[in-house]
Amino acid sequence: MLEADRIYNFNPGPAAMPLEVLKEAQAEFLNFNKSGMSIVEISHRAKAYDEVHNAAKADILELMNLSADEYEVMFIQGGASLQFAMVPLNFATADKKGYYALSGQFAEKAYDEANILGVGEVAASTKEEKYVRVPRQSEIKLADKAAYLHICMNNTIFGTEYHYVPETNGIPLIADMSSDMLSRPLNFNKFSLIYAGVQKNLGPAGVVLVVAKKSFVENSPTTLPTMLRYNTFYKKNSLYNTPPAFCIYMVGKVAKWLKSMGGLSKMHELNKKKAALVYDAIDGSNGFYRGHAEKDSRSLMNVTFRLPSEDLEKKFVAEALENKLGGVKGHRSVGGMRASIYNAMPYEGCERLADFMNKFRKENA
Ligand SMILES: *Cc1c(COP(=O)(O)O)cnc(C)c1O
Repeated sequence: MLEADRIYNFNPGPAAMPLEVLKEAQAEFLNFNKSGMSIVEISHRAKAYDEVHNAAKADILELMNLSADEYEVMFIQGGASLQFAMVPLNFATADKKGYYALSGQFAEKAYDEANILGVGEVAASTKEEKYVRVPRQSEIKLADKAAYLHICMNNTIFGTEYHYVPETNGIPLIADMSSDMLSRPLNFNKFSLIYAGVQKNLGPAGVVLVVAKKSFVENSPTTLPTMLRYNTFYKKNSLYNTPPAFCIYMVGKVAKWLKSMGGLSKMHELNKKKAALVYDAIDGSNGFYRGHAEKDSRSLMNVTFRLPSEDLEKKFVAEALENKLGGVKGHRSVGGMRASIYNAMPYEGCERLADFMNKFRKENA
């Protein structure tokens, strides 16, 4: 085992997985559940797979404190990017448009897909401010006959996150939670549909977790091809066609791991402590590190900051890696650094990053 060679992985996505989960999958890989076959070799109609599939669904609802009578968990391929299109295809029309709060690049991409279909409207935007914060409740404007409000809960690239759930007065609320799904408890009942590409916080790339109110997804437009309708996935328990079984198996393991960690309240406490280590290193640096996000919009998942010069930023990335801190380079559209500290990043990883930041500042300020 080369565990000692593993680094602290701050990649934005695909991202770090809990070590316990990786080890468990490794141990089971050749012979899943005494079947004599690997999980990637068995039929998706086999009983052994069925158990994996349904346990993952049940554990996710339990973590979210949602009722299986009211909510359905679906597994859909095509990435969060396909959800950008499926949402307006299923719910918006030219006279009942989808409304979008623009808070970053992924929120814009979701809006762009609705626009291609001619069914998108802007409800709010912080683009003028370079997305340093998420829109405030008072800035979100919805028409009475809006089909939904779409928000991006955590803006992976800019490092901002909603710390409130927008009130929509009965208009369905839809959220892209790709980069903060299951990182904290929320009043998930307020959402009609939530989706998350799992490769940030929940598993390996290849599946999107969609959690939706059954009443919201039971009827899809019959003009849509089968695989683009939510109700295909709902009515067939996400087994209409071959599901990405390995991804779902891994997501199920992560859900079990989250339960063993004490659930979402415990994860939230831990995530706040982890993020505080890194933000304190920024705030205590006398301006050497400059955070991108305004304080009340700071993400607990992606910490974005700049250094005094691009040369120092390059040096920071290189020296961080020498210290086993990988993946800290920021997205090209924001520049600087981004430390992604999802659920699977241990506290020690953030401690080590904060120590490194303090040391680097003293040596280079
Ligand atoms: C990564 C990301 C996406 C894009 O996900 P894909 O699965 O690559 O399509 C969308 N939204 C958010 C918030 C993301 O972080």
